[in-house]
This record gives sequence, C-alpha cells and structure tokens, in this order.
Amino acid sequence: MSACNSIAEAVWKDIKSTRSVTHDQLSILHFLFGKNFERATRIVDQRGVKRISGEPSGRCVFQVVGESRRKEEYFCFAEHYCACYSFFYDIVNRGEQLCCKHQLAARLAASVGACVEVNVSDEQLAILLSKL
Ligand SMILES: [Zn+2]
Repeated sequence: MSACNSIAEAVWKDIKSTRSVTHDQLSILHFLFGKNFERATRIVDQRGVKRISGEPSGRCVFQVVGESRRKEEYFCFAEHYCACYSFFYDIVNRGEQLCCKHQLAARLAASVGACVEVNVSDEQLAILLSKL
C-alpha cells in the first residue's frame, strides 16, 4: 500500500511540473487506481473540479462533482479527506483503496491546471469548512 502511494506521489509531482500527462503516466495511474481513475478523468473532462481558495491565506479546499444523476458535490482534500460515502466505506473502514475518485479528480485537475478557480474570503472559507 505505501509503495503504491509513493509511486503515485512521484507521478503526481512529475505531472505537476510539466502540466501534462504522458501516456506512461496514464498507464501507471490507471494501474494504481483502476476504474476510479477512469471516473476521475471523466470528472476532470467535465470541468467538475472547483478549487475554492481563501484570501489572503491561500488555504484551499476542492469541491468535486459526483457522477450520479443528482450531481451532488463533495468537499474534498486531495490527500486526506473526502466527504463522500466511498471514502468512509472503502478507504477508512476497509482500507481497500488509496483514495476515492473525487480525490483523484482533484489531484489530476490541480496537476494539469484544469480546476475551476473560486476565490472567497478566509471567513467564507471557514464557514464552508465548519459545515463539513
Ligand atoms: Zn470522494
């Protein structure tokens, strides 16, 4: 599990430095994350990742649209947390996956610069986060 995680971290770092994804990187991410990665790329293609940044601190949280018909949005920290059901069930409880598709989508969008950027005041961000 942790070896996978450090491979993934290295790939994200490369993508971030070039702002693009090579075929090899896609293969690795697909190998590590499988179907979740396919779902994440679909979310990014639909511009479904918002990055909400607080000013002046620069602290940010992602808001990622889900794939169900209701199009609900989940607050998500790319590395540590997502508000969706799968995060609690598959990742925290069962430890079967490294992260959920929303976290992957946030990671991918941030790395290639495909987020919809939203700026709010730090107060507004604090209010958003207090509702998590
Ligand atoms: Zn999620």
